[in-house]
Amino acid sequence: MSPRKNYPKNKRPKSDDRDIATSNQRFEEHHEGLYTVRKLTGSGSTKSYRCPGCDQMIPLATPHVVAWLEGDEESRRHWHSACWAKKDKRRPNTERTRNAPRY
Ligand SMILES: [Zn+2]
Repeated sequence: MSPRKNYPKNKRPKSDDRDIATSNQRFEEHHEGLYTVRKLTGSGSTKSYRCPGCDQMIPLATPHVVAWLEGDEESRRHWHSACWAKKDKRRPNTERTRNAPRY
């Protein structure tokens, strides 16, 4: 009667995605130190966060990134994925406004 019998033991149905969540976590080395970076789907969020990259709110149910300096949970911040990606390229004190640097 159990449809699960059709699945081999190590090949679970999709509903077990939860277990894979931690694989969305990685480490990134930044100017300030080593960040733990986790990708969130946003589906489980209950509040919106302000992105420190652009100072805009991240709406609910929006895939984004949460990052914090290793060993410093206090530094934990939610970022738009795009803002986080840009962060690494922006050097402190040389912030440019609208003039895109030439590469
Ligand atoms: Zn942002």
